[in-house]
Amino acid sequence: MKYFCKKMKRKGIRYLAFTGLLAAGCLLGCGRKEDITLESMDTAMGTVIQQRIYLSEGQDTQLTQRILEQIRDLEAEVLSWRLEEAELAQVNAQQGCVEVSQELLHLLEPVFEVAEASGGAFDPTIGEVVRLWNIDEWAQMENPRGYRLPPEDTLSEALAHTGYEKLSLDVNASKLYLPEGMQLDLGAVGKGIALNRIRELLEGEAGGAVISAGGSILTFGERPDHAPWRIGITDPLKYSDRIGYLEISGRWCISTSGDYERYVEVDGVRYHHIIDPDTGYPADSGVRGVTILAKDGLLSDALSTACFVLGVEEGMELAERFEAEALFVTEEGTIEMTTGMETYFHTR
Ligand code: AMP
Ligand code: MG
Repeated sequence: MKYFCKKMKRKGIRYLAFTGLLAAGCLLGCGRKEDITLESMDTAMGTVIQQRIYLSEGQDTQLTQRILEQIRDLEAEVLSWRLEEAELAQVNAQQGCVEVSQELLHLLEPVFEVAEASGGAFDPTIGEVVRLWNIDEWAQMENPRGYRLPPEDTLSEALAHTGYEKLSLDVNASKLYLPEGMQLDLGAVGKGIALNRIRELLEGEAGGAVISAGGSILTFGERPDHAPWRIGITDPLKYSDRIGYLEISGRWCISTSGDYERYVEVDGVRYHHIIDPDTGYPADSGVRGVTILAKDGLLSDALSTACFVLGVEEGMELAERFEAEALFVTEEGTIEMTTGMETYFHTR
């Protein structure tokens, strides 16, 4: 697959916000008589989960609830580093040679594949650095102005414990080796993994659905009026607006990583939540937001983080290696995308 960068500069107008949200929902068409639409908005995995599901008569009207429970279980039992019962938290606590479930191993395999392919721009061993920045607390901080940056020497120490290449996985023996001091963090792929689980639940149980979990969105099946799904992309430079939307049919995962999603400001400088594993500081690749379109949620989520750190050129190359489409909004407000993405992206 070949790509070329398309630059679209708008004179006088800066491109406004980035995000993917449920634009499809706003455009609900008239369904057939027997169609039932379920809608819900809840919180799980520290983010907002929005669901819109189209059913036919006789299908389970409790599906949104089951999906929510599935997401909460996934976090509590497998993915969380914070909840003690979660397998990932236990791996982090044990260190050294650790026995792990096939379920976690099968998630870690593609995660480490992207880590390697991205040259460590996406690195799930970055846990200790993320903890030092206290990223998960930013949203709840009562006094963000009192926030102190992590001291440089502590950051360098933590960085010495990171590096995807230092960890080894033995799928046959169901074991992994976690070097001393290393902490895993699956925050960059958790929502994408959740979307894959949701998709499995939807199979045979719904005619169509659009479900968002933070910066990741799943489209599934068809709308009752057979119109394509429309997924808005927020402008990172003005979050209340969109730069355009993706028009897609059937099953897709769309993940966006943007510097506006989580950040703190210290002495007039903004520090966001996507860390460059080379420096331990927020990535500074000239990109403000990246949206990835892929068939798989783990992949779209991992790639959005990786591409944000890599920047436009290397990010495009990485996306095409995984047959995913990518769209970048740069600091200058230009939009650059893979050729494949041009088929799906439309401006207002
Ligand atoms: P996302 O919004 O999907 O790009 O994920 C960002 C989250 O992933 C952060 O809140 C951290 O928990 C974690 N993270 C930050 N930087 C990286 C990185 N370079 N590689 C892997 N995970 C990261
Ligand atoms: Mg991500």
